[in-house]
Amino acid sequence: MIGYSPTRAATYCTENYAGERLELLAPLYLPGAEKILLLDHPKHLPNVIESLKQDGFVRIYVNGKGIRLDEWEEYATKLTLSKKSNVDLGIDRLRVNPDEQKRLAEAIENAFQRGHGLLKICLTDHAGKTEFLSETPANVESDLSLAFFQQEELTPRMFSFNSHIGACPTCDGLGGFPSLHDPLCTDCCGERLKAEYRAVTINERNISQFCQFTVPEARRELESWTLTENQRTVAEQALGEILTRLKFLENVGLEYLTLDQKASTLSGRTDFYIR
Ligand SMILES: [Zn+2]
Repeated sequence: MIGYSPTRAATYCTENYAGERLELLAPLYLPGAEKILLLDHPKHLPNVIESLKQDGFVRIYVNGKGIRLDEWEEYATKLTLSKKSNVDLGIDRLRVNPDEQKRLAEAIENAFQRGHGLLKICLTDHAGKTEFLSETPANVESDLSLAFFQQEELTPRMFSFNSHIGACPTCDGLGGFPSLHDPLCTDCCGERLKAEYRAVTINERNISQFCQFTVPEARRELESWTLTENQRTVAEQALGEILTRLKFLENVGLEYLTLDQKASTLSGRTDFYIR
């Protein structure tokens, strides 16, 4: 999960969709999103049509259906706009190639500005499949009911089930209910964290999934991460310290431990090393 600058988003498109046709959209309303985009309800759409036209935009999309702004009057009466409607602003359509790099970056910047930090990429050559990129770190599922936008800076406490900030509110971070025989809390699947923080992933693994690794598995996983220069600047020190600790645990013969192993299940000797 990472945040994209316009340049970085352009690089992402070039690396993943070279030669393909893309349509870049700025979401104006996204059902289920916590983030307030331009519209706090799709029924407010008519109020912004004029200004979008004046700003030179040509097309909006309601539930994926394109509507030309100069034909808006015709559609206005036929449209039923509800909280479940998606509304996107068409920013640009282009084919990803080296000559269009500048145009691509400009369109992305424009989309981020109009979409309050969100860009929706419609993959024209893949039957209109869509993908979101966010300027702030976010995890946006294509299933919009799961769309989640992280607007705050992420902090370590968000990833701790011992903190009320991170703990799943249903099981209070316990992962289950001791009084019942059900070992897993259905809300968090036993992962003990709030859904929004479980949605934060690196290489498609959230922190709970990562902690199921044994010591050597975790070390190998960390060593396999390829970081961009920016990411390296941010993460290098912490990663170095984590690797040192993992290697220590391996050296003292505790490679069978998983990172999420409960302290109460450790033998006295093991407990000694961990502390
Ligand atoms: Zn729970």
